Amino acid sequence: MRRKIIFFLALTLTLFATGSSCNPTVNPDMQEFKEVMAYPPQWDGTKRGDITYQLLVYSFADSDGDGWGDLRGITEKLDYIQSLGASAIWLSPIHPSASYHGYDVEAYGAINPRFGTMADFKQLVSEAHKRNIRIYLDYVINHSGVNHIWFKIATSSMKNTYRDYYIFSNDPQKDIATGKIPMIATEGAGGYDSGQWFSTGTMPSGIYKFTLNWSNGNAPTVTISSGGTPDKDNPDQSAEGAKYLYYGDGICKKFYSKGNGIYELTVDFNSGWGFLIRTSNSSSWPLGTKYGAKKGTSGQLSFDVPFTLYTDNSSNDNILNLTLPGGNIYYYHSHFWTDWFADLNYGPVATAEFSLAFKEIVAIAQGWIDTGVDGFRLDAVKHIYHNENSDENPQFLKKFYDVVNTHFKAKNGRDIYMVGEVFSDWDKVAPYYKGLPALFDFSFWWRMNAAINQGQGLGFADATITIHKAYSNQRSDFIAATKLSNHDENRTRSELGGSLAKAKLAGAMLLSSQGSPYIYYGEELGYTGTKTGGDEYVRTPMYWGDRYVTSYTDKIDPAVGSTVGSVVSQEADASSILTMYRQLGRLRNSCPALATGKMERHPVINPQTGGIYSQVAAWYMIEGKQKLLVLHNLGQGEITLSLSESLTKPLFANGLVQTKKVKENFQLKMEGYSSVIFEL
Ligand code: MG
Repeated sequence: MRRKIIFFLALTLTLFATGSSCNPTVNPDMQEFKEVMAYPPQWDGTKRGDITYQLLVYSFADSDGDGWGDLRGITEKLDYIQSLGASAIWLSPIHPSASYHGYDVEAYGAINPRFGTMADFKQLVSEAHKRNIRIYLDYVINHSGVNHIWFKIATSSMKNTYRDYYIFSNDPQKDIATGKIPMIATEGAGGYDSGQWFSTGTMPSGIYKFTLNWSNGNAPTVTISSGGTPDKDNPDQSAEGAKYLYYGDGICKKFYSKGNGIYELTVDFNSGWGFLIRTSNSSSWPLGTKYGAKKGTSGQLSFDVPFTLYTDNSSNDNILNLTLPGGNIYYYHSHFWTDWFADLNYGPVATAEFSLAFKEIVAIAQGWIDTGVDGFRLDAVKHIYHNENSDENPQFLKKFYDVVNTHFKAKNGRDIYMVGEVFSDWDKVAPYYKGLPALFDFSFWWRMNAAINQGQGLGFADATITIHKAYSNQRSDFIAATKLSNHDENRTRSELGGSLAKAKLAGAMLLSSQGSPYIYYGEELGYTGTKTGGDEYVRTPMYWGDRYVTSYTDKIDPAVGSTVGSVVSQEADASSILTMYRQLGRLRNSCPALATGKMERHPVINPQTGGIYSQVAAWYMIEGKQKLLVLHNLGQGEITLSLSESLTKPLFANGLVQTKKVKENFQLKMEGYSSVIFEL
């Protein structure tokens, strides 16, 4: 019987028709407990629900059989994303990078050839827009990869424009302590974390000009400047008045005399120990007179500042090597403690918009907008500035948002969407609404996870309402990007003990709550996977059951293909988790109260008065005249509720839910992990 009902339900859900929002049929017969048969409204096709689908380009759909997911694969699977009711897609980074995941960007304006071409990207945008699906790019503004051309140039010499794009220091601990690095006035618990600084090498190579001033033979000087064209070896090998630059692996090059005691030489310099000035190129002792720094002093030079050379005819041991400015140089990366990212340098937040890195990263974002991009997901935004108890990051993000939005709005006539990743609890997230309209609501999932695992639903709605109130205090039109797990977390179902019933419950709670939900690809199939053994296990290829499955990695969660069914098999199963996600996607788009409604506490099932119902999460969703009652049983066991609301208009049910009428009240029997939504 139940299968027939579900089949009928699935049939009705597949019917599309025009018409307005919720308008369910009433179930008249309520005298005995009867299984709730949902009568969802017909969806008019309008995307109200603000559902975003998060996918990893490399794992999603491989159109050309090279093993890697690609842009054409996404285009060819847009109808699948459409079937979930999504109005946007967040793409993992699409730019060239050395890693599989793409967060070490090598060129912000380009597309990783593995994923396709710019034409493929424009085709994806165009086809998505035809379906009212927006495209959000993952934009990594905290750091670039060390293979980015900016970083390569920056580290190629001690003086070039791109050095300002990154944070370099000869002595990070001292420079932080003395306030010389505006983005890092404090760092780490101890004020300095050496694990976040990485050496560029002890002596950077590059082209340098060396100038000797021998006009005063008692106090000759050497001055170094950066850049230029290396000189050919000096053909004049006469010994009279000769001066030599001695460096590297026994290299000894003669200076050119410019007259009046001035000597110059430009070389492509590479030396681990620095250099000395000599008056002979003899390879045998005593090598002429040697000039350097006096023992006990620093032999490190500054650019364009004459350094007085020291010599000691009595003992060469008293003469120290001279080193280039900087000596051992470090660059900074703020998180992950890996040396293949380098943080971008935006300088003091007050003047960030004038920094070269800011101007360039904004210009490239504007270029993406011109290709049709609808928004950005900003990675790791809490790691941009590191000054504790300051609001520099929100300030910086507001500057970034405003300038990018100006460009977007002129083109599209609406504000751009931008969502920030602040991987923290809600109280740390809230202040970022001063900078961005949308932020991921990580704590939403963390609270739900704990509630389901403890079988305690009573406090969920109250906490969500309180936290979203805190967000609204920062920004009245805040967008809480609610979610379950994402690519940096263990999969939802694995966090819930591998239980499919609990995974469905989590999906139902997500899509029936206040907020703007993200569905992480695979959640709708009930994916499992944990980060133990590698992040790839929570980024497992999408299991289509057709030729689009990617194969770029061997690190695939073993449950995929065994306990997790493919898209093809789940589409044919009216009781699958995929079917449930599709039902809720349509329902959320049909009902204004689910789509944009406010969550309100239930008068009975709440932490103060609902003690006997502690396993239940209940709330109202309200928008205009529409009011919905949402109920989830987080407990393993069945529970029967007495409710004063009229339960005659069920819109959605997952699991066995039964109702009967007792005098003026209704009784509702919910099996473990079941969910139900009524229109009131
Ligand atoms: Mg491919």
